[in-house]
Amino acid sequence: MKYAHVLLIPYPAQGHVTSLMEAARCLTRNGLKVTFVNTEFTHKRVMSACLDIDGLSDMIRIVSIPDGMEPCDDRSDLGKMTKTVFQHMPTKFEELINDINKNNEEKITCIIADYGMGWVSRVAQKMGIRLAIFSPTSAAILALTMSIQKLIDNEVINCNGVPLKNEMIQLSSTMPFMDPTNFVWVRLGDATSNQIFFEYVYLGAKEAAEAADHIICNSTMNLEPGTFTLFPKILPIGPLLATNRSTKQLGHFWSEDSTCLRWLDQQPFRSVIYVAFGSFTLFDKSQFEELALGLESTKKPFLWVVRPGKNGNTDHEYPSGYMDRIGTRGKVVGWAPQQEVLNHSSVACFISHCGWNSTMEGVSNGVPFLCWPYFAEQYFNKTYICNIWKTGVGLDKDDAGIVTREEIKIKVEELLSNNMIKENALILQESVMNSLQAGNSSNKNLNNFIDWIKKGNHHVGDDETCD
Ligand code: UDP
Repeated sequence: MKYAHVLLIPYPAQGHVTSLMEAARCLTRNGLKVTFVNTEFTHKRVMSACLDIDGLSDMIRIVSIPDGMEPCDDRSDLGKMTKTVFQHMPTKFEELINDINKNNEEKITCIIADYGMGWVSRVAQKMGIRLAIFSPTSAAILALTMSIQKLIDNEVINCNGVPLKNEMIQLSSTMPFMDPTNFVWVRLGDATSNQIFFEYVYLGAKEAAEAADHIICNSTMNLEPGTFTLFPKILPIGPLLATNRSTKQLGHFWSEDSTCLRWLDQQPFRSVIYVAFGSFTLFDKSQFEELALGLESTKKPFLWVVRPGKNGNTDHEYPSGYMDRIGTRGKVVGWAPQQEVLNHSSVACFISHCGWNSTMEGVSNGVPFLCWPYFAEQYFNKTYICNIWKTGVGLDKDDAGIVTREEIKIKVEELLSNNMIKENALILQESVMNSLQAGNSSNKNLNNFIDWIKKGNHHVGDDETCD
């Protein structure tokens, strides 16, 4: 089949939207027709934050459907939002496809759904449309999800996902150890939210991953070789980065403040601490203050993302006289062009919450990490960084659950004087970026996947190799 029209649908959260949008750009660059489905709420945010709306809609047709919540509902209540999405979006999604399909020239031939939107697999099956799953998280987390039945059978978790054992497990001897008390569905919020996520998102992802023809993810073969060997259905096509193609990343919920790039230009080579915690992380007043004072005590230049808006970190005040004392040594922005920042030669290290996108972006730019996970799979990503790849160190909390200013100062010094970690980060960068070269694993997987979309007559992942 020559004609192909792909419908992509992300889970409505920042890291999911931008990385699936990046995958969409890979498809359009390869001549595929792409329609991207956001929730109406996400669509409004993306459009109001986007400085290059023409660039956005030129490439990809973006449409939106309701998420089932009221406009004023709190979407930071992830449990409630997720349950509503799963209950309301399938009908709207089906209506959308029927609507698009009215035009014979436009018919949807393939759906690529975020693994967090497992409900899509039932719609795809019902409508007889081929399905692929996209995972914006590590392959290991997807592998864990696909192993839920085995975990229940082995009494690692009960049928509600609650850990029954307090000992590390391995899905195979070649995969990293995982701590059941840090399983992604145990670390999302209170017990009610965790339960909703387990039931809807993770059991839904398991069902969708089994039903899908293919699973692609933003990772590389050399980052997680054990997982890809054990789960050959999961195909790495990463790193998915806008900087790979020298154009802007699209789909942000906040407007980027690019003044920090000019500020970075003025800083010495590999001197700046970049501090950013993604789109969800919140600190209480005392933790915010300790972080501010910790950065001050390093006596190094720093670029710190303090998100604006309701419940954002700007709800907190800086310590008295802080901005005057910091002067031009510190730069605070509401939202940074993170990929460009991490690609800048002035950046020395990344204090990060270890969201998977941030992890991939740091790794792809050879930047060492100071890991400060906040929730979900970020604890496991920290394990990758500190214990497996050895490209970073962790920040530890004190008995009161605070990362103190002293801890920040000590760990920044420890990281920046550790040549082994810096070297590991550069070696890892090279091998990760290599996987995109013609004929190497991510490049090959993407090309085979695109062929499958276009023709649908061969198995993606044949003759897979590890570079
Ligand atoms: N990001 C950004 N500017 C910022 C902070 C974050 O562009 O100031 C982007 C970052 O590059 C990444 C995404 O937001 O692509 C965050 O995704 P991640 O998976 O790291 O964390 P999450 O927000 O899902 O917790």
